[in-house]
Amino acid sequence: MPEGDSLYRFAARLRPALVGKPILAVRSHGPGPVPQVHRIVGATCTGVRSQGKNMLISFDNGLALRGHLRMHGTWHVYQPGEPWSRPEREARLVLEVEDAVVVNFSAPVIELIEERALEHYGPVSNLGPDLLDDDFDPGEALRRLRDSSRADLTIGDAIMDQRALAGVGNIWKNESLFHAGINPWRRVRELSDEALLGLIGKAQALLRASVGKPNALDLKRRPSMYVYGRAGQPCRRCFARLRSGPQGVDIRHTTWCPKCQPVVEGQMEPPVRTRSVQPRGVNAGEPS
Ligand SMILES: [Zn+2]
Repeated sequence: MPEGDSLYRFAARLRPALVGKPILAVRSHGPGPVPQVHRIVGATCTGVRSQGKNMLISFDNGLALRGHLRMHGTWHVYQPGEPWSRPEREARLVLEVEDAVVVNFSAPVIELIEERALEHYGPVSNLGPDLLDDDFDPGEALRRLRDSSRADLTIGDAIMDQRALAGVGNIWKNESLFHAGINPWRRVRELSDEALLGLIGKAQALLRASVGKPNALDLKRRPSMYVYGRAGQPCRRCFARLRSGPQGVDIRHTTWCPKCQPVVEGQMEPPVRTRSVQPRGVNAGEPS
C-alpha cells in the first residue's frame, strides 16, 4: 500500500506537470466514472499536495480532486503521445494539459469536491497530524494515540490509524516499531508517553528520510528495511530469527525481532509464526 512518503513523491511528480496549466480534457473510467469531473475542463490547476495518504489537486474554479490509492493505485505522468506502461482500461482518471498526460491507475477513491468543504470533509479533516508536514506536532499525535478509543489497540494497529497520525502504512509500521524497540503486540495503554513519543519520532524520521528531508536519524536516503518483508530471516542487528504474524482488522503482516522488540510480562501473546511472507507491491516498480 502506498504510504505517506509515496504520496509525497507522487505529488512532487504531478506538481510540475499540472500546476499553472489549464485542463484540456478529462476522462474517468470504472468502477463508476467520477461524478461531475467534466467541471474541471477549462479550469487551471492551482496546486497539488499530499495529505497523509490522500492526493489533493486544486483548481482555480474552487474545485479539488481527492484521490486515495488504497492497495494498488498509482499515478503516472506521460508526455502527449507517449505509450503508457499499463492499458487504458486500467486508468481510473486521465487529465490532459498542453504538454502532459496525468493518469491514475486503479485508485478506488477519486472524487471531485469543493475546496472550501475540505476542512469539514471527514476523510481529510479527521486525519491526524501529517508526519511529513514540517510543522508536524508530535504532542498532538501522542494526544490522539492516547484517546481512550485506542487504549486497547495493539500499537501495531494504532500507529497505522490515520486519525491519530497520518502517513504510516504497513512498511513504516514495521520499521518504526523495530527502530523504537517496541513489540508490535503491546497495547497502547501499556506504553509510556516516552515510549510513544519515541515511536512517533522514529516514524517521522523514517518517512522524512524516505523523501529526502533532513531527519532525526540523519539518514541521507530511503532507509533500508530491517524487518519489513524479512520474516524468518536473521535480524540485521542481533541475528535472531524474525517472527511474523497477521495483525489488525485489515490482517496486515507484521514482522518483528523477538530480541530487539521483546514481549513484556503480562502482554498479549503474539501469534507464533516464522514463515516467510512476500509482501505485495514491493519491487513492483512503484514506490511502495
Ligand atoms: Zn534483533
